[in-house]
Amino acid sequence: MTPLEIVHYVVVHELAHLSIPNHRKEFWRRVAQIIPDYKHRRRWLKENGHKLYFLQDN
Ligand SMILES: [Zn+2]
Repeated sequence: MTPLEIVHYVVVHELAHLSIPNHRKEFWRRVAQIIPDYKHRRRWLKENGHKLYFLQDN
């Protein structure tokens, strides 16, 4: 797991919000289409996000 993978996840997450402005099932299905292992990255971000310059929205 490298920070670049995390940045990729955050970008995909934010882009998915352009078409789906919530965190319901449909939203996560959209994210999973692009990043099948997004859950690992999301967990990494929860545990290490405070070290990074951006904040995760929930
Ligand atoms: Zn979000």
